[in-house]
Amino acid sequence: MVLKINNTLGREKQEFKPIKSGVVSFYYCGPTVYSQQHIGNLRGAFCADSIRRSLEYLGFAVNFVSNYTDVGHLTSDGDEGEDKMEKGVKKEGLSPAEITSKYIKLYEQDTLKLNILPPTTRCLATDYIEPMKEMVGTLLEKGFAYTTDLAIYFDITKAKNYTELSGQNLEDLRIGAGAGEVSDKGKKNSSDFVLWFFKKGVHENALQTWDSPWGFGFPGWHIECSAMAKKHLGETIDIHMGGIEHIPTHHTNEIAQSESANGKKYVKYWLHNEHLSLAGEKMSKSLGNVVYVDDVVKKGFNPLALRFLFSQAHYRSKQNFTWEALKDSQRGYEGLLNSLSHLGKELGQVSEDFKNKFKEKLNDDFGLPQALALVFEVLKSDLSNEDKLATILDFDKVLGLDLGKNDQSNSELVVSELPEEFQELIKKRELARSEENWYRSDELRDQIQEQGYIIKDTQDGTKVFRK
Ligand code: AMP
Ligand code: ZN
Repeated sequence: MVLKINNTLGREKQEFKPIKSGVVSFYYCGPTVYSQQHIGNLRGAFCADSIRRSLEYLGFAVNFVSNYTDVGHLTSDGDEGEDKMEKGVKKEGLSPAEITSKYIKLYEQDTLKLNILPPTTRCLATDYIEPMKEMVGTLLEKGFAYTTDLAIYFDITKAKNYTELSGQNLEDLRIGAGAGEVSDKGKKNSSDFVLWFFKKGVHENALQTWDSPWGFGFPGWHIECSAMAKKHLGETIDIHMGGIEHIPTHHTNEIAQSESANGKKYVKYWLHNEHLSLAGEKMSKSLGNVVYVDDVVKKGFNPLALRFLFSQAHYRSKQNFTWEALKDSQRGYEGLLNSLSHLGKELGQVSEDFKNKFKEKLNDDFGLPQALALVFEVLKSDLSNEDKLATILDFDKVLGLDLGKNDQSNSELVVSELPEEFQELIKKRELARSEENWYRSDELRDQIQEQGYIIKDTQDGTKVFRK
């Protein structure tokens, strides 16, 4: 069985052969941390996590590096000119370092709730200013970069094959100098990108600046990842992953810089995840159509029901978020926990047959939804309960759904944390009981049970459990 991956570079499914047999170097473009990450960002992190878990399941040792962009002057939506950190500092009355550590902490709490594994190495851009400057120096020396009054730019016409990843037309990218992040008369091509911003012009008041041989300023976004990836994983890495919006700019620019500076291929396999949308539009900070993990929890959902929902779409497919879909997902997830609780606690043998099928799905460009579907086939199969449990818990190494903790299905639930409509049903039933309307009260009990819950009337009031 071989692993085949859909490589954005070349746009085809290719056999995966890491540089070093059995070991995978994997770089994931992490979040910008000047504000809270929404569940769209977290879908990206989830996709990378499930691919990393799949690789480990398939027998590879994975060196998974993920960064935090803590030089907060831009978003992945591309508006480099606006200083987000300045805005954040004004709004929150905190220093840049306080802002980034606040949002890193929040992000890490959210990833924990979604069972996203911590990276093998996590790196903050601000700790890598020296290697970034080194790379900018090399690019200037080798003639790939030039300096204007406002910034140091990479000249895209000097790159070997600038449009290789995106398939764009180079001529379209050359025309119209001065467009883009800073209106700069000295810029040669519209898509030349900044390697180093000077503390001048719109960035006169930039709050995070460093000295450099070329003057005070701060690095461009793209150079951050190139420098950190090189520092931790070397000049050529196996897998580099991020959202699809990174293809034409961020990742294209990373390739141009790294390959020009190092004289070597930068990445063997490029993986890009599709977006999470809300009402058909990409969930994004700039559009404001965002949902946070906190919202999910406040509405009484288990965050792992969100992971269960994410698992139902392939990483290269768009996924539309609705509260209705999350409700269905929670029902499905609880139903699964309930089925598992009926298997007992004894572990038997992992079924080789199902394990091979599971690997087959993962080997096909990390087919997680198909792999998840096998869990239900195992449940329906004629394996013994012990073997079913062992097999499903083995799959959970990839799924990350905490399926081993199915005893939570029997613990009492906190009513105020359950979905609002559900709390309404409980209140109505309590009212019916106080009015001694037993017919109505039983009717409401049935409705509650249909939603996957059990209620018990005790001297201390109504208690709710998962079915
Ligand atoms: P940002 O903080 O905006 O730079 O985004 C951090 C990461 O989240 C990037 O890798 C983006 O590709 C990813 N991302 C942002 N919005 C979405 C979305 N709606 N769906 C999936 N991934 C997203
Ligand atoms: Zn990056």
